[in-house]
Amino acid sequence: MDPFIELENEYCARNYLPLPVVLVRGEGVYVWDNDGKRYLDMMSAYSAVSHGHGHPRLVAALKEQASQLTIVSRAFYTDKLGAFLKKACELTGQDMALPMNTGAEAVETAIKAARKWAYTVKGVEDDQAEIITCEGNFHGRTLAIVGMSSEVQYKDGFGPFPPGLKSIPYGDAAALEAAITPNTAAFLVEPIQGEAGINVPPAGYLKRCAEICRKHNVLLICDEIQTGLGRTGKLLASQHDGVKPDGLILGKALGGGMLAVSAFLSRREVMAVFTPGDHGSTFGGNPLSSAVALEALNVLEDEGLAARSAQLGRYLLEQLQSIDSPLITDIRGKGLFVGVEIASNKATARSVCEALMGRGVLSKETHETVVRLAPPLVVTKEQLDWVVAQLADVLAESVVA
Ligand SMILES: *Cc1c(COP(=O)(O)O)cnc(C)c1O
Repeated sequence: MDPFIELENEYCARNYLPLPVVLVRGEGVYVWDNDGKRYLDMMSAYSAVSHGHGHPRLVAALKEQASQLTIVSRAFYTDKLGAFLKKACELTGQDMALPMNTGAEAVETAIKAARKWAYTVKGVEDDQAEIITCEGNFHGRTLAIVGMSSEVQYKDGFGPFPPGLKSIPYGDAAALEAAITPNTAAFLVEPIQGEAGINVPPAGYLKRCAEICRKHNVLLICDEIQTGLGRTGKLLASQHDGVKPDGLILGKALGGGMLAVSAFLSRREVMAVFTPGDHGSTFGGNPLSSAVALEALNVLEDEGLAARSAQLGRYLLEQLQSIDSPLITDIRGKGLFVGVEIASNKATARSVCEALMGRGVLSKETHETVVRLAPPLVVTKEQLDWVVAQLADVLAESVVA
């Protein structure tokens, strides 16, 4: 076995089952393994690498800031945080932001904001606030968040979980209205469910949810950690429905594929619930993260990555639909956020991903039956053609085998 795989398996907790490839370098849409073999990255680290690997402007921003000032904690002001958050707010139409690092932390921040808003603004009685989430959701891995999950394995052995979290079917606006009580603080939802298998809800779902939330004085909080920043063909996936959520959670691509940068963004009235000492993070909003994230947002705009995702995503869907294989039961997605569902009685998505790896395409299965196709948004049409050809060949070979 590869010595790097052996070493990692010996010392790293086995909380993942990686494909057996050791990556040592990345540039644009490509990564290379320790034998020098090149792969087209159709995973983009779950959309954290939407800008492509080692984007020159992001490497430059990282290097420049690293030599200037990196971490000081929020005990002090810096010359970088305000400019980053101003840009993030302007782009998303929100008033204020609270910077964190990982996605899960920003989701926790959103939950805390919603609860405190419920007690101090809406008038919910102490400790009674409820957050409504959807079945099949993925919001991260902290205890409160896995407490909201419908995934048995995420929770098994990790209880007890915080109360006040309830779950409704995804894509069903009537279920939301039925679940709301006077204690409901917020509805937390992914505009497209990523980890559940690129589940696209019925058109108009989010718009209907926004109307219901407004009617009942419930905050609509969109987790756009994966769908945001151009992934689905608009800056935010909620814009497909013309919705501006009360709270917005960004992460992943916000760090430009360089660092863990996340944020909870909201209206001034909601963010005002936080007073000094309520919440914090040693690394959140540090000048290194801020400089890189600001440049990541600038690159997204300058290179028109959202429009590119829309155009190439449409093309990718068309090309995939032209593959004639009994192994494909569904193809779905928006922008460069596409899932190909594999007939589970014929092959596994894992076996398809392993065969793709052999041909120089890296992807990862989600939920055993879905092959995820989510390349860096800088991918070209020709590169997508090549990926589709590899997938068609792999599926053809799998039928024979
Ligand atoms: C990845 C993801 C998270 C969690 O982000 P981490 O950085 O892994 O904590 C939360 N929500 C969604 C929709 C995600 O895709």
